[in-house]
Amino acid sequence: MADKLVSRRSGVTHAMGGCYDCNGGEAIWFARNAVACAANHARASGHHTWAEQVIATTYNGK
Ligand SMILES: [Zn+2]
Repeated sequence: MADKLVSRRSGVTHAMGGCYDCNGGEAIWFARNAVACAANHARASGHHTWAEQVIATTYNGK
């Protein structure tokens, strides 16, 4: 099954986010929940936020 090939080491390895209204293109949040922070901030303040993350996936066919 494909699911068994996915290593437990998979996941978000890098994440950051910010708010164009508060801090322009500079990131404010660096934790793995940066996406959630950006979403919450946008919802709470009505600001224009952004977030990006890198998700690494490894496979072990053994
Ligand atoms: Zn803001």
